Amino acid sequence: FTVLALESSADDTCAAIVTSDRRVLSNVVIKQHQLHGPTGGIYPPTAIDAHQRNMPHAVRRALQEAKMTMHDVDGIAFTRGPGIGGCLSVGSNAAKSLAAALDKPLVGVHHMQAHALTSLLTAPSASTTPRFPFLTLLVSGGHTLSVLATSLTSFRILGTTADESVGRSFDKVARILGLEWGKRGLGAALEDFCEAEPTTDEGKCDGEISSFAFPHPMRGRLDFSFASLHSTVDRHLALLGRPPTLAEKRALAREFQDAAVAQLCAKLRLALDACAQRGVTVGDVVVSGGVASNRYLRTRLRESLDAYAALSESTTEDARIELAFPPVELCTDNAAMIGWAAMHRFLAGDYDPYDIDLKPKWSIEEI
Ligand code: ATP
Ligand code: FE
Repeated sequence: FTVLALESSADDTCAAIVTSDRRVLSNVVIKQHQLHGPTGGIYPPTAIDAHQRNMPHAVRRALQEAKMTMHDVDGIAFTRGPGIGGCLSVGSNAAKSLAAALDKPLVGVHHMQAHALTSLLTAPSASTTPRFPFLTLLVSGGHTLSVLATSLTSFRILGTTADESVGRSFDKVARILGLEWGKRGLGAALEDFCEAEPTTDEGKCDGEISSFAFPHPMRGRLDFSFASLHSTVDRHLALLGRPPTLAEKRALAREFQDAAVAQLCAKLRLALDACAQRGVTVGDVVVSGGVASNRYLRTRLRESLDAYAALSESTTEDARIELAFPPVELCTDNAAMIGWAAMHRFLAGDYDPYDIDLKPKWSIEEI
């Protein structure tokens, strides 16, 4: 079964073709970084305009790269929510009109369910895909969630952010430190800045900065909180009372990234405890969403889960928790994940009507 999928919930215009035997035949993402960069968050009218301009090109390219015509497509999927209403409507109207005109089945998908199920598409083989129940950490621009997935459609939120998402917090710190938008966005620019070798002309680093402690918000609780992390960066720069040297900027960036990643590791372990207390044995952890492409996070999570397994009572062999990350290009928004999340419904003949509504606000617990 071959699906053409469209995604336009935020600032990327995406079209992809995926098959029921887990092949991604094309995966087109047209970014809008340069439009939203200077102002900060996504400005909906600008994003909607760009989606309207870009969607026809995305669809055309997805078909060309897959060497297909619409007649080779068996079904059409789109993102039904959550997201910015006007943005969602561009992808959904295109999908509905194509499906109706060509008399093809249509399925609307939950965007975060799609992030959560991406690893089932991208695991190296069908036998290595995560098994239910698994725990998923959804870390993106709009969400920071720890979720227990018990089937393709049943999700239970264990923790969510009390203020802003970890992705936005990376974006804000990158902006505070004056980093440039890279090809992969501000969060990735911050990661690259942390990793880069210091140059000879970085200047001195004030001792205070390199030893400054970041907070551990909501310690012991399942919920997340990131607002205090970037305000710590702000406060520290204000205390400095002069423009920071490059060395100081890098020290702050590293401490921030370290604190954000430490929080994600700590809350994941608490979520595993919560599952165990409910008698649910979790053998797989799936991390997805844009922040999941962060290499430092990937390393630290692996170490953290190994330490967790070593502490647990059963033998380490049994207790090892598999950790799955989609490839970087499928961590951030893409339509391949939308097509894949719709696949089980196409295969079951469970289609949506052509006039189905959008759900800009839609909890992953209410799929
Ligand atoms: P949502 O999926 O919640 O609707 P979104 O679709 O805007 O939000 P994604 O595309 O999944 O979000 O992720 C984008 C976010 O991920 C941005 O905040 C970006 O800064 C962050 N991000 C991307 N790459 C990295 C990285 N390497 N390190 C840290 N953060 C990153
Ligand atoms: Fe997303």
